[in-house]
Amino acid sequence: SGRMTLLLQVIPYGGEQTLLLSRDISHLERLERMRSDFIANVSHELKSPLTVVAGFAEMLAEDHAGYSQEELSRYLQLINEQSLRMRRLIEDLLTLSALETGGDTPVEERVEVEPLLQTILGEAQALSAGRHQFSLLLDEPATLRGCASELRSAFGNLASNAVRYTPEGGRIDLHWQREADGGGRFTVADTGIGVAPQHLPRLTERFYRVDRSRSRETGGTGLGLAIVKHVLTRHHATLEIDSEPGHGSRFSARFPAGQLLV
Ligand code: ADP
Repeated sequence: SGRMTLLLQVIPYGGEQTLLLSRDISHLERLERMRSDFIANVSHELKSPLTVVAGFAEMLAEDHAGYSQEELSRYLQLINEQSLRMRRLIEDLLTLSALETGGDTPVEERVEVEPLLQTILGEAQALSAGRHQFSLLLDEPATLRGCASELRSAFGNLASNAVRYTPEGGRIDLHWQREADGGGRFTVADTGIGVAPQHLPRLTERFYRVDRSRSRETGGTGLGLAIVKHVLTRHHATLEIDSEPGHGSRFSARFPAGQLLV
C-alpha cells in the first residue's frame, strides 16, 4: 500500500533549539509484519503434527496393553508420518535460513548438468513410484557455475512438485537447453493440475499454497518454491512459470550466459 509511517525524532540541538527528523518507516513495519507472520506460520505448521504425535503417544502410554496389533501399527504409522512431516519442515527451514545468511554469492563450483539431471530424475522417479512417465532431454552437455547442492535442491524441488501435482498416469519431462543468447534453461513440464493465473505471482512466497490439504497430503512444506527462488536469484537466474489449470505446468530456471562454463 502507499501508506507512509513517519518516525519523528526530536533531537536537542544546542541551547533552545531542537532538530526534528522524520523518516518513513513503513518498510520496517512491513518487514516486521512479514517476520511475525512467518513465525506464526512456522508455529502453526509444527503444532498440528506435534498434536497428533503427542496425542497418540499419550494414549499408548496410558494403556499399552489395550490395543490390537492393527490398532498399534496404525497409530505408530501416524506418529511416524507426522514426525517425518515435522522433520521435512525443519530441514526446509534450515535450508532457507542457510540461503538467507549464506552471503550474496553461492559457492562457485563447476556443476555438470547431465549427472545433476540424472540424479534429479532418479529422485523424482523414486517419489513417483511408477505412477508417471518420465523423459529427460539434454540438448548438449553443459556446465554451470554455482553451488552443486543448492542447484540440486532447487531442481529437485521443481521435479518433486511436478510429481506431487500430477495425477497418476501423467507425464513429466525434464529438459536442459542452450538459449540463443548463450544462457541455459532447465524446464520441468508436467501434465498435472496446473495453477490458476491469479495464484502465480504469490507462488514463491513462503507457505503460500493453492490447496493446503493437497500440499500436505503429498508431503509439502509450502517452502519448496521459496527455496527455488532464493537459489536461482543467488545464481542470477530467473524462474518462469507457464501453467494451464487442468492441463499442466512448465517451471523453467533460466540462467544467463555468465553462469555457464564452456
Ligand atoms: P508445497 O510444499 O506446498 O508444494 P511449494 O512452495 O513447492 O510448496 O509450492 C507452492 C504451491 O505452488 C503448491 O502448494 C502448489 O499449490 C503450487 N505448485 C507448485 N508446483 C506445482 C505444479 N508443478 N503444478 C501445480 N501446482 C504447483
